[in-house]
Amino acid sequence: SNDYRVVVFGAGGVGKSSLVLRFVKGTFRESYIPTIEDTYRQVISSNKTICTLQITDTTGSHQFPAMQRLSISKGHAFILVYSVSSRQSLEELKPIWQTIKEIKGTELPNIPVMLAGNKCDESPEIREVSASEGQAQAQTWGISFMETSAKTNHNVTQLFQELLNMEKNR
Ligand code: GDP
Ligand code: MG
Repeated sequence: SNDYRVVVFGAGGVGKSSLVLRFVKGTFRESYIPTIEDTYRQVISSNKTICTLQITDTTGSHQFPAMQRLSISKGHAFILVYSVSSRQSLEELKPIWQTIKEIKGTELPNIPVMLAGNKCDESPEIREVSASEGQAQAQTWGISFMETSAKTNHNVTQLFQELLNMEKNR
C-alpha cells in the first residue's frame, strides 16, 4: 500500500503532540493543549516510491479502548512515548504494548515500533527514568529505543526516520 500509518501512543503530557508537530511543522510550544485525536499527512518519497505518511497523534490515556484498538489495527508502525521525568508514564505504556501484541499477533515481528523517552532536555534532578532503563525496557519488548526532546529537537527526525528505515528493511 502507498499509505503508511504511524500511530503515536503515550500518557497525557509526555510530548506526543510536541514530537509530531516538531517533525511535521518544525515548531514547539511551551503550553499544554490536550489533543483530540489528530492525523497529519505528509507525502514522502523513499526508494523511488512515493507514499503518504499518516501520523496519528492520539489523546493518550483518555482514548476510548475501542478507538485505541482501531488505531492499533489500522497502524503500520508505532511510537510509544514516555517522559524521562515520569516513571508513571513509562508504566502506562505497558498495557498499550500488551494490546499491540495481542492485536498484531504473529505479524508483530514485522511491525516497526520505537520507544521514545521524551523530554531528555529536562534537568537531571527531575529525571525519574535513566536512559539505560529505557533501553532495557525496549530490549524486553524487542523494539528500538531513543531519548528525544521535542523542545531542543534532539533525535526527532531520527525517531521517525528510524521507523521508515525499519519498514524499508523488512
Ligand atoms: P501530549 O499530551 O503527550 O501530546 O503532550 P504535549 O505535546 O501537549 O506536551 C505536554 C507539555 O510538555 C507541553 O507543555 C510541552 O511544551 C511540554 N513538552 C513536550 N515535549 C517536551 C520536551 O521534549 N521537553 C520539555 N522540556 N518539555 C516538553
Ligand atoms: Mg497531545
